[in-house]
Amino acid sequence: MSERTAQLNIPEESGWLFVPYSFIGADVCGRKKPQAALLVESMVYSFSDPENSRVCRQSYADMRKRLGLCNDTVARSVRILTASGAVEQDKSRRICAEYSHSAPSRGLSGVEVPDFLLTEEFTIRGKKRRDGSVTPQRVRTLRPMEAVILSEIRRAQQNGAKEYATSDSRLAKQFRLNKSTVNEYITALIRSGLLYRAQEGRGCNGRYLSRYAVNEKLLRVLRKRKARENKQKQGKARETLFSAGKLTDDERARAAREIAARNARNTALDARTEREHWYAVRRQEAENRARRYLRIAEQDEAYSAAQKAVKRLDVAIAKAEVFRLPDLEALRRERLEQCAVRARRLAALHIGEEDLRPAWHCKKCEDTGFEIGTGRPCSCYSPPKGDDV
Ligand SMILES: [Zn+2]
Repeated sequence: MSERTAQLNIPEESGWLFVPYSFIGADVCGRKKPQAALLVESMVYSFSDPENSRVCRQSYADMRKRLGLCNDTVARSVRILTASGAVEQDKSRRICAEYSHSAPSRGLSGVEVPDFLLTEEFTIRGKKRRDGSVTPQRVRTLRPMEAVILSEIRRAQQNGAKEYATSDSRLAKQFRLNKSTVNEYITALIRSGLLYRAQEGRGCNGRYLSRYAVNEKLLRVLRKRKARENKQKQGKARETLFSAGKLTDDERARAAREIAARNARNTALDARTEREHWYAVRRQEAENRARRYLRIAEQDEAYSAAQKAVKRLDVAIAKAEVFRLPDLEALRRERLEQCAVRARRLAALHIGEEDLRPAWHCKKCEDTGFEIGTGRPCSCYSPPKGDDV
Protein backbone atom coordinates (compact mmCIF):
# COMPACT_ATOMS: atom_id res chain seq x y z
CA MET A 1 0.00 0.00 0.00
CA SER A 2 2.77 2.43 0.83
CA GLU A 3 6.38 2.81 -0.08
CA ARG A 4 6.88 4.96 2.97
CA THR A 5 7.80 3.01 6.05
CA ALA A 6 8.49 4.06 9.60
CA GLN A 7 11.62 6.08 10.08
CA LEU A 8 13.65 6.02 13.20
CA ASN A 9 14.15 9.12 15.27
CA ILE A 10 11.74 11.57 13.80
CA PRO A 11 12.86 14.86 15.34
CA GLU A 12 10.14 16.25 17.59
CA GLU A 13 10.32 19.61 15.85
CA SER A 14 9.82 18.02 12.44
CA GLY A 15 6.28 19.37 12.09
CA TRP A 16 4.65 16.07 11.22
CA LEU A 17 3.58 12.75 12.69
CA PHE A 18 3.95 9.28 11.32
CA VAL A 19 0.67 7.35 11.53
CA PRO A 20 1.17 3.62 10.88
CA TYR A 21 -1.71 2.02 8.96
CA SER A 22 -1.88 -0.82 11.45
CA PHE A 23 -2.78 1.62 14.26
CA ILE A 24 -5.82 2.94 12.41
CA GLY A 25 -9.22 1.64 13.47
CA ALA A 26 -7.70 -1.15 15.58
CA ASP A 27 -9.56 -2.20 18.71
CA VAL A 28 -8.30 -1.29 22.17
CA CYS A 29 -9.66 -3.10 25.21
CA GLY A 30 -12.45 -4.61 23.13
CA ARG A 31 -13.66 -1.28 21.73
CA LYS A 32 -12.84 0.71 18.65
CA LYS A 33 -9.90 3.02 19.25
CA PRO A 34 -11.01 6.67 19.40
CA GLN A 35 -9.45 8.88 16.72
CA ALA A 36 -7.83 11.10 19.35
CA ALA A 37 -6.11 8.06 20.83
CA LEU A 38 -4.80 7.21 17.37
CA LEU A 39 -3.08 10.60 17.26
CA VAL A 40 -1.58 10.28 20.73
CA GLU A 41 -0.41 6.77 19.91
CA SER A 42 1.15 7.90 16.63
CA MET A 43 2.88 10.74 18.42
CA VAL A 44 4.41 8.41 20.99
CA TYR A 45 5.40 6.02 18.21
CA SER A 46 6.91 8.80 16.08
CA PHE A 47 9.05 10.22 18.84
CA SER A 48 10.20 7.12 20.66
CA ASP A 49 12.57 4.37 19.69
CA PRO A 50 12.89 1.69 22.36
CA GLU A 51 15.74 -0.06 20.55
CA ASN A 52 17.87 3.02 20.96
CA SER A 53 16.38 3.88 24.36
CA ARG A 54 14.79 7.04 23.05
CA VAL A 55 11.52 7.99 24.71
CA CYS A 56 8.80 10.49 23.92
CA ARG A 57 8.85 13.34 26.43
CA GLN A 58 5.93 15.38 25.21
CA SER A 59 3.83 16.77 28.06
CA TYR A 60 0.00 16.83 28.01
CA ALA A 61 0.23 20.48 27.02
CA ASP A 62 2.54 19.64 24.10
CA MET A 63 0.18 16.91 22.92
CA ARG A 64 -2.83 19.13 23.30
CA LYS A 65 -1.28 21.95 21.29
CA ARG A 66 0.27 19.80 18.65
CA LEU A 67 -2.67 17.46 18.06
CA GLY A 68 -5.43 20.04 18.45
CA LEU A 69 -7.06 18.13 21.33
CA CYS A 70 -8.31 19.26 24.72
CA ASN A 71 -6.68 18.24 27.99
CA ASP A 72 -9.34 15.69 28.98
CA THR A 73 -9.12 13.98 25.62
CA VAL A 74 -5.35 13.70 25.88
CA ALA A 75 -5.63 12.26 29.39
CA ARG A 76 -8.33 9.78 28.34
CA SER A 77 -6.31 8.71 25.30
CA VAL A 78 -3.21 8.10 27.38
CA ARG A 79 -5.30 6.04 29.85
CA ILE A 80 -6.78 3.90 27.09
CA LEU A 81 -3.41 3.33 25.44
CA THR A 82 -1.56 2.45 28.62
CA ALA A 83 -4.38 0.13 29.73
CA SER A 84 -4.15 -1.72 26.42
CA GLY A 85 -0.39 -2.10 26.79
CA ALA A 86 0.39 -0.39 23.47
CA VAL A 87 1.98 2.56 25.22
CA GLU A 88 4.11 2.51 28.32
CA GLN A 89 4.14 5.52 30.59
CA ASP A 90 7.04 6.07 32.96
CA LYS A 91 6.30 8.68 35.61
CA SER A 92 9.37 8.06 37.74
CA ARG A 93 11.12 11.20 36.53
CA ARG A 94 8.55 13.57 38.01
CA ILE A 95 9.28 16.54 35.72
CA CYS A 96 7.70 15.03 32.68
CA ALA A 97 6.35 11.56 32.00
CA GLU A 98 8.15 9.47 29.41
CA TYR A 99 6.31 7.38 26.86
CA SER A 100 7.35 4.53 24.65
CA HIS A 101 5.47 2.34 22.20
CA SER A 102 5.53 -1.43 22.10
CA ALA A 103 5.48 -1.67 18.30
CA PRO A 104 8.78 -2.26 16.48
CA SER A 105 10.38 0.97 15.38
CA ARG A 106 11.04 -0.23 11.86
CA GLY A 107 9.09 -1.79 9.08
CA LEU A 108 5.59 -0.41 9.70
CA SER A 109 4.06 1.32 6.73
CA GLY A 110 1.96 4.39 7.21
CA VAL A 111 1.34 7.99 6.31
CA GLU A 112 2.92 11.29 7.35
CA VAL A 113 0.43 13.81 8.69
CA PRO A 114 1.61 17.44 8.91
CA ASP A 115 0.86 19.04 12.30
CA PHE A 116 -0.88 22.03 10.82
CA LEU A 117 -3.60 19.82 9.37
CA LEU A 118 -4.55 18.90 12.94
CA THR A 119 -4.50 22.36 14.48
CA GLU A 120 -5.46 24.75 11.69
CA GLU A 121 -9.09 25.93 11.55
CA PHE A 122 -10.73 25.56 8.17
CA THR A 123 -13.84 27.17 6.77
CA ILE A 124 -16.18 24.41 5.58
CA ARG A 125 -18.54 25.92 3.03
CA GLY A 126 -22.26 25.39 3.42
CA LYS A 127 -24.31 22.93 1.41
CA LYS A 128 -26.90 24.03 -1.11
CA ARG A 129 -30.41 22.98 -0.12
CA ARG A 130 -33.10 21.99 -2.60
CA ASP A 131 -34.80 25.37 -2.32
CA GLY A 132 -31.54 27.09 -3.33
CA SER A 133 -30.67 28.40 0.14
CA VAL A 134 -27.31 27.47 1.62
CA THR A 135 -26.61 25.91 5.02
CA PRO A 136 -24.30 28.04 7.18
CA GLN A 137 -20.57 27.55 6.80
CA ARG A 138 -18.58 26.27 9.72
CA VAL A 139 -15.10 27.00 10.96
CA ARG A 140 -13.42 24.05 12.65
CA THR A 141 -10.30 21.93 12.81
CA LEU A 142 -10.18 18.71 10.79
CA ARG A 143 -11.19 15.43 12.39
CA PRO A 144 -8.11 13.25 12.86
CA MET A 145 -9.18 10.82 10.15
CA GLU A 146 -9.96 13.65 7.75
CA ALA A 147 -6.34 14.73 8.14
CA VAL A 148 -5.16 11.13 7.67
CA ILE A 149 -7.23 10.60 4.50
CA LEU A 150 -6.02 13.90 3.04
CA SER A 151 -2.41 13.00 3.84
CA GLU A 152 -2.85 9.60 2.21
CA ILE A 153 -4.09 11.18 -1.02
CA ARG A 154 -1.17 13.62 -0.87
CA ARG A 155 1.27 10.80 -0.35
CA ALA A 156 0.05 9.09 -3.52
CA GLN A 157 0.44 12.37 -5.41
CA GLN A 158 3.94 12.91 -4.12
CA ASN A 159 4.81 9.47 -5.41
CA GLY A 160 3.99 10.70 -8.88
CA ALA A 161 0.26 10.07 -9.33
CA LYS A 162 -1.53 13.16 -10.65
CA GLU A 163 -4.79 12.12 -9.09
CA TYR A 164 -5.77 9.48 -6.62
CA ALA A 165 -8.46 7.03 -7.67
CA THR A 166 -10.55 5.55 -4.91
CA SER A 167 -14.13 5.04 -3.80
CA ASP A 168 -15.87 5.62 -0.48
CA SER A 169 -16.07 1.89 0.13
CA ARG A 170 -12.40 1.40 -0.64
CA LEU A 171 -11.40 4.18 1.76
CA ALA A 172 -13.81 2.75 4.33
CA LYS A 173 -12.13 -0.61 4.14
CA GLN A 174 -8.62 0.82 4.11
CA PHE A 175 -9.19 2.98 7.18
CA ARG A 176 -11.80 0.83 8.94
CA LEU A 177 -14.51 3.45 8.87
CA ASN A 178 -18.19 3.40 7.91
CA LYS A 179 -18.88 4.24 4.31
CA SER A 180 -21.18 7.06 5.38
CA THR A 181 -18.46 8.46 7.65
CA VAL A 182 -15.98 8.41 4.77
CA ASN A 183 -18.51 10.21 2.61
CA GLU A 184 -19.01 12.84 5.31
CA TYR A 185 -15.23 13.37 5.67
CA ILE A 186 -14.60 13.61 1.94
CA THR A 187 -17.45 16.09 1.58
CA ALA A 188 -16.02 18.23 4.39
CA LEU A 189 -12.54 18.14 2.82
CA ILE A 190 -13.96 19.22 -0.52
CA ARG A 191 -16.01 21.99 1.08
CA SER A 192 -12.93 23.25 2.92
CA GLY A 193 -11.14 23.72 -0.41
CA LEU A 194 -8.38 21.27 0.57
CA LEU A 195 -9.45 18.50 -1.77
CA TYR A 196 -11.15 18.33 -5.10
CA ARG A 197 -12.82 15.56 -6.95
CA ALA A 198 -11.33 15.61 -10.42
CA GLN A 199 -13.74 12.95 -11.60
CA GLU A 200 -16.78 11.59 -9.90
CA GLY A 201 -17.37 7.83 -9.85
CA ARG A 202 -20.81 6.91 -11.11
CA GLY A 203 -23.03 4.28 -9.61
CA CYS A 204 -23.83 3.77 -5.96
CA ASN A 205 -22.44 0.31 -5.35
CA GLY A 206 -18.95 1.68 -4.82
CA ARG A 207 -17.43 -0.22 -7.73
CA TYR A 208 -16.71 2.98 -9.61
CA LEU A 209 -13.74 5.04 -8.57
CA SER A 210 -13.62 8.78 -8.12
CA ARG A 211 -10.38 10.64 -8.74
CA TYR A 212 -9.15 13.05 -6.10
CA ALA A 213 -6.41 15.63 -5.94
CA VAL A 214 -5.19 17.81 -3.09
CA ASN A 215 -5.15 21.61 -3.39
CA GLU A 216 -1.41 21.97 -2.98
CA LYS A 217 -1.54 25.75 -3.39
CA LEU A 218 -3.67 26.06 -0.30
CA LEU A 219 -1.43 23.72 1.68
CA ARG A 220 1.61 25.76 0.69
CA VAL A 221 -0.04 28.91 1.99
CA LEU A 222 -0.86 27.20 5.29
CA ARG A 223 2.60 25.73 5.69
CA LYS A 224 4.17 29.15 5.20
CA ARG A 225 1.90 30.61 7.85
CA LYS A 226 2.79 27.84 10.29
CA ALA A 227 6.53 28.38 9.77
CA ARG A 228 6.07 32.06 10.48
CA GLU A 229 4.13 31.38 13.66
CA ASN A 230 6.95 29.18 14.91
CA LYS A 231 9.42 31.96 14.26
CA GLN A 232 7.19 34.34 16.16
CA LYS A 233 7.24 32.01 19.14
CA GLN A 234 11.04 32.16 19.21
CA GLY A 235 10.86 35.93 19.26
CA LYS A 236 8.53 35.75 22.27
CA ALA A 237 11.39 34.67 24.54
CA ARG A 238 13.09 38.02 24.10
CA GLU A 239 9.81 39.77 24.70
CA THR A 240 9.49 37.98 28.03
CA LEU A 241 12.88 39.28 29.11
CA PHE A 242 11.77 42.72 28.01
CA SER A 243 8.57 42.71 30.02
CA ALA A 244 10.29 41.19 33.03
CA GLY A 245 12.50 44.28 33.11
CA LYS A 246 15.71 42.33 32.88
CA LEU A 247 17.26 44.56 30.24
CA THR A 248 19.26 47.79 30.43
CA ASP A 249 17.65 51.01 29.16
CA ASP A 250 19.55 50.77 25.92
CA GLU A 251 18.52 47.19 25.36
CA ARG A 252 14.95 48.04 26.30
CA ALA A 253 14.74 50.73 23.65
CA ARG A 254 16.16 48.41 21.01
CA ALA A 255 13.86 45.54 22.01
CA ALA A 256 10.82 47.85 21.95
CA ARG A 257 11.67 48.93 18.41
CA GLU A 258 12.16 45.33 17.33
CA ILE A 259 8.87 44.20 18.82
CA ALA A 260 6.95 47.05 17.21
CA ALA A 261 8.53 46.34 13.83
CA ARG A 262 7.81 42.63 14.13
CA ASN A 263 4.20 43.18 15.08
CA ALA A 264 3.67 45.44 12.10
CA ARG A 265 5.34 42.91 9.82
CA ASN A 266 3.26 40.03 11.16
CA THR A 267 0.00 41.89 10.80
CA ALA A 268 0.85 42.59 7.17
CA LEU A 269 1.92 39.00 6.55
CA ASP A 270 -1.22 37.56 8.17
CA ALA A 271 -3.39 39.73 5.98
CA ARG A 272 -1.46 38.57 2.93
CA THR A 273 -1.79 34.89 3.84
CA GLU A 274 -5.53 35.31 4.40
CA ARG A 275 -5.79 36.92 1.01
CA GLU A 276 -3.78 34.18 -0.77
CA HIS A 277 -5.89 31.54 0.95
CA TRP A 278 -9.12 33.21 -0.10
CA TYR A 279 -8.04 33.43 -3.75
CA ALA A 280 -6.65 29.87 -3.81
CA VAL A 281 -10.07 28.52 -2.85
CA ARG A 282 -11.92 30.67 -5.38
CA ARG A 283 -9.55 29.83 -8.23
CA GLN A 284 -9.91 26.14 -7.47
CA GLU A 285 -13.70 26.40 -7.52
CA ALA A 286 -13.74 27.97 -10.97
CA GLU A 287 -11.16 25.54 -12.36
CA ASN A 288 -13.05 22.55 -10.98
CA ARG A 289 -16.23 23.59 -12.72
CA ALA A 290 -14.48 23.83 -16.10
CA ARG A 291 -12.72 20.53 -15.50
CA ARG A 292 -16.04 18.82 -14.76
CA TYR A 293 -17.55 19.97 -18.03
CA LEU A 294 -14.43 19.00 -19.94
CA ARG A 295 -14.62 15.48 -18.49
CA ILE A 296 -18.24 15.12 -19.56
CA ALA A 297 -17.38 16.32 -23.06
CA GLU A 298 -14.35 14.05 -23.33
CA GLN A 299 -16.44 11.03 -22.42
CA ASP A 300 -18.35 11.66 -25.64
CA GLU A 301 -16.52 9.72 -28.35
CA ALA A 302 -17.47 11.97 -31.24
CA TYR A 303 -16.38 15.08 -29.34
CA SER A 304 -13.16 13.48 -28.27
CA ALA A 305 -12.33 12.35 -31.82
CA ALA A 306 -13.09 15.81 -33.24
CA GLN A 307 -11.01 17.47 -30.54
CA LYS A 308 -8.05 15.24 -31.35
CA ALA A 309 -8.48 15.90 -35.05
CA VAL A 310 -8.46 19.67 -34.50
CA LYS A 311 -5.25 19.43 -32.51
CA ARG A 312 -3.61 17.26 -35.17
CA LEU A 313 -4.76 19.65 -37.93
CA ASP A 314 -3.38 22.66 -36.04
CA VAL A 315 0.06 21.10 -36.23
CA ALA A 316 -0.36 20.11 -39.88
CA ILE A 317 -1.57 23.61 -40.81
CA ALA A 318 1.35 25.27 -39.06
CA LYS A 319 3.70 23.03 -40.99
CA ALA A 320 1.92 23.63 -44.29
CA GLU A 321 2.13 27.39 -43.74
CA VAL A 322 5.87 27.31 -43.16
CA PHE A 323 6.68 25.04 -46.10
CA ARG A 324 3.97 26.54 -48.36
CA LEU A 325 2.50 23.10 -49.03
CA PRO A 326 -0.29 22.90 -51.60
CA ASP A 327 -2.79 21.14 -49.25
CA LEU A 328 -3.06 24.12 -46.87
CA GLU A 329 -6.55 25.09 -48.02
CA ALA A 330 -7.84 21.52 -47.70
CA LEU A 331 -6.42 21.28 -44.19
CA ARG A 332 -8.08 24.53 -43.17
CA ARG A 333 -11.42 23.34 -44.54
CA GLU A 334 -11.09 20.08 -42.67
CA ARG A 335 -10.30 21.92 -39.47
CA LEU A 336 -13.44 24.03 -39.81
CA GLU A 337 -15.50 20.87 -40.33
CA GLN A 338 -14.03 19.25 -37.23
CA CYS A 339 -14.68 22.40 -35.22
CA ALA A 340 -18.28 22.26 -36.34
CA VAL A 341 -18.54 18.62 -35.23
CA ARG A 342 -17.11 19.58 -31.89
CA ALA A 343 -19.59 22.44 -31.49
CA ARG A 344 -22.52 20.19 -32.47
CA ARG A 345 -21.52 17.57 -29.89
CA LEU A 346 -21.20 20.22 -27.18
CA ALA A 347 -24.64 21.56 -28.04
CA ALA A 348 -26.05 18.03 -27.85
CA LEU A 349 -24.47 17.64 -24.41
CA HIS A 350 -25.91 21.02 -23.33
CA ILE A 351 -22.44 22.39 -22.75
CA GLY A 352 -21.42 25.86 -23.92
CA GLU A 353 -17.92 26.58 -25.22
CA GLU A 354 -17.50 28.96 -22.28
CA ASP A 355 -18.26 26.13 -19.79
CA LEU A 356 -14.96 24.51 -20.75
CA ARG A 357 -13.05 27.53 -19.55
CA PRO A 358 -12.96 28.53 -15.87
CA ALA A 359 -15.78 30.99 -15.14
CA TRP A 360 -13.78 33.30 -12.89
CA HIS A 361 -15.66 34.96 -10.09
CA CYS A 362 -13.85 38.15 -11.04
CA LYS A 363 -13.05 38.93 -14.66
CA LYS A 364 -10.62 41.72 -13.79
CA CYS A 365 -8.11 39.48 -11.99
CA GLU A 366 -9.28 35.99 -12.98
CA ASP A 367 -9.31 35.11 -9.25
CA THR A 368 -5.58 35.71 -8.88
CA GLY A 369 -6.08 38.82 -6.75
CA PHE A 370 -4.06 40.93 -9.18
CA GLU A 371 -5.58 42.77 -12.11
CA ILE A 372 -4.61 41.25 -15.42
CA GLY A 373 -2.40 43.66 -17.33
CA THR A 374 -1.68 46.16 -14.58
CA GLY A 375 -0.76 43.71 -11.79
CA ARG A 376 -2.46 45.96 -9.25
CA PRO A 377 -4.17 44.28 -6.26
CA CYS A 378 -7.77 43.67 -7.28
CA SER A 379 -10.73 45.28 -5.54
CA CYS A 380 -12.80 42.08 -5.53
CA TYR A 381 -11.26 40.81 -2.27
CA SER A 382 -13.98 40.41 0.37
CA PRO A 383 -12.89 37.97 3.05
CA PRO A 384 -15.55 36.22 5.12
CA LYS A 385 -16.25 37.76 8.52
CA GLY A 386 -14.82 35.68 11.34
CA ASP A 387 -18.07 35.57 13.32
CA ASP A 388 -20.41 33.71 10.98
CA VAL A 389 -19.49 30.34 12.46
ZN1 LIG B 1 -10.63 40.46 -8.82
